[in-house]
Amino acid sequence: MESAPLPNADCLHCGVCCHSESHEYVWVTGYDWDLLGPDAERLAHFIGNRAFMKMSEGHCAALDIRRAADGGIEYFCTVYERRPTICHALGRGSPECLGELETKTAAVALSTQQKLAAGDKPAPPRM
Ligand code: SF4
Ligand code: SF4
Repeated sequence: MESAPLPNADCLHCGVCCHSESHEYVWVTGYDWDLLGPDAERLAHFIGNRAFMKMSEGHCAALDIRRAADGGIEYFCTVYERRPTICHALGRGSPECLGELETKTAAVALSTQQKLAAGDKPAPPRM
């Protein structure tokens, strides 16, 4: 249940919590790794004895930032149905979500504008 008005209509037009400069940001459990199946090696890796989603250009490697048909920006999780447990746990409108929005929204918006302006669009997912 949402606890406060959110600036974006839905997560597809937000993507803030999929961004981080940390390479140990999205923890991948053994269950998550199995769920990713053939995409696990491409999208996740081990750091020490723990696995994490790979990060690319400041966001999760599974995130596709793209132009929508209406010219808007979409932040599309290419493994949405198989996303890690920690992504499931971060509910839209939760305190964690609101914290992410408060601390990262401006930086994500700037980063996205720079990527799209430079034509530096992430490669389409190989599913
Ligand atoms: S959960 Fe919150 S921070 Fe994450 S994409 Fe949705 S609205 Fe944005
Ligand atoms: S797996 Fe999907 S929901 Fe989770 S951080 Fe990556 S792009 Fe975002």
